[in-house]
Amino acid sequence: VTITRFDLLLTGGHVADGLGSSLFRADIGVVGEKIVALGDLSPCTATETFDATGLVVAPGFIDIHTHSDVSVLYTPGMESSLAQGVTSEVVGNCGISLGLATSAPEFSLERRWLEGAGGKLSWTNLKGFLAEVEARGCALNIATLAGHGSLRKRVMGMAQRPPSQTELTAMQHELANALEAGAIGLSSGLEYVPGSYADVGELTALAKIAAQAGGFYATHLRDEGDLLEESVAEAIAVAEGAGIALQLSHHKAERRRNWGKTLSTLAMVDAAQARGVDILLDQYPYTAYQTSLAVIALPPWANAGNPEDLAVTLSDPELRARARTWMGELESSGGISWDAVELASCPHASYVGKSITTLAKENGCDPRDFILNLLGEGSGWVSAAHFAMSEVDVAQILSDPRVMIGSDSVAMNPHATSADAHRPHPRSYGTFARILEHYVRDKSLLSLPEAIRRMTSLPARRLGWSDRGRLAVGAFADITVFSPEDIQERATFIAPHALATGVRAVVVAGQLAWLDGQPTQGHSGKVLRAS
Ligand SMILES: [Zn+2]
Repeated sequence: VTITRFDLLLTGGHVADGLGSSLFRADIGVVGEKIVALGDLSPCTATETFDATGLVVAPGFIDIHTHSDVSVLYTPGMESSLAQGVTSEVVGNCGISLGLATSAPEFSLERRWLEGAGGKLSWTNLKGFLAEVEARGCALNIATLAGHGSLRKRVMGMAQRPPSQTELTAMQHELANALEAGAIGLSSGLEYVPGSYADVGELTALAKIAAQAGGFYATHLRDEGDLLEESVAEAIAVAEGAGIALQLSHHKAERRRNWGKTLSTLAMVDAAQARGVDILLDQYPYTAYQTSLAVIALPPWANAGNPEDLAVTLSDPELRARARTWMGELESSGGISWDAVELASCPHASYVGKSITTLAKENGCDPRDFILNLLGEGSGWVSAAHFAMSEVDVAQILSDPRVMIGSDSVAMNPHATSADAHRPHPRSYGTFARILEHYVRDKSLLSLPEAIRRMTSLPARRLGWSDRGRLAVGAFADITVFSPEDIQERATFIAPHALATGVRAVVVAGQLAWLDGQPTQGHSGKVLRAS
């Protein structure tokens, strides 16, 4: 050892290298943003020392699937993530990149998110967005994908048709610009408009551009229930056609009649992998998903156009009757049970947290009419949690060594968020803690080193980050120190605004970002652009 004085020294911890090796006792010395020594550093001193005796010292967790696009600008403390030991987040998932939003009417939803956080559009492209994140400073490292839906909206608005050759070329050009500005790949959200209007040809043509830049293709499948297998096949076809690495986002089987399909989707991944396709997956460990109520409960055609168009669609008696019939068939065929759908965000604060069945009863109407009336008001964003997955499927997916942990969350500050009209999915506060508490400590479904690998080196591999996601000399000093006996998810569906506990210290780019249950306000995170 030539260096005997470090900026930061973590002593006495049980080190998890992130690669899945057994834990070993070592000190870690940090200078600047890097780990410069690892081993017995007992003769050394440091400007700052943290005693990690009895604690696990792991690479900072990498959350490959988030929607913190607004948070990174206006909730830059990222407290809900830091409290779980997350040090890097990938935003721009599911086809939606805030960095690609413009002042055009098609981006009304994005602008509503921004305005809800007290912000406004101050950029015109992804380059400007990333510069804004950098200028404001963020507690975590941030990377972004280029969302296909956002690219499509920039070029062809909400047009419900294939692109012309000129439009496709323009989308490719927009994507190339985003990649040039540092986007790490392409994401799609084929269950949402306008992503749902794209076919394999369009997606492949764009994925080829991302492949040329060394990026990957992350996809929220076209259908995660009745057409789950067909949708996985489509994603694989795009990856094979474009020669690009594939990331299957928040993998799951929705709706009871589709439970067990994860066996066949994982077998499809095996088969494609055997043909040479590079496929990895991510997952959040809950049996409920949460999204727009209109996506959960209405036929896809009803969601065409801008969010504002839904109320207009539902005011047409004929269309409303057609939607009502479709909802009835969904219900009678076992596709949905209204008591498994609980409102999460709603302009009527008193509705939040109640099931559709309860609310319909309180309002003296049929559940279908309750939903059509509520969405027909057009008064704002309505989202719901749908308890539609099985614990058996969740465990089946988690048992696969190709599955990393991705929260699908929006980072929050529990003290700055009004809990009245908005009940986020507890995944925002609990995903990583829940894995370590529930699936490692209580159920022993994963060993601790393996769970840490799924949160660190596995996502780093997908992201092409060779110097993150592991603890080694020369790697970036993104480090999480936690107690494996105490780590606990405290957020629930009923009371989600609760930070996880048990993470004792978090280091981001060499600086302590979280200490003793509190953020240090260091905002030392970096914007991680594709190189
Ligand atoms: Zn998604």
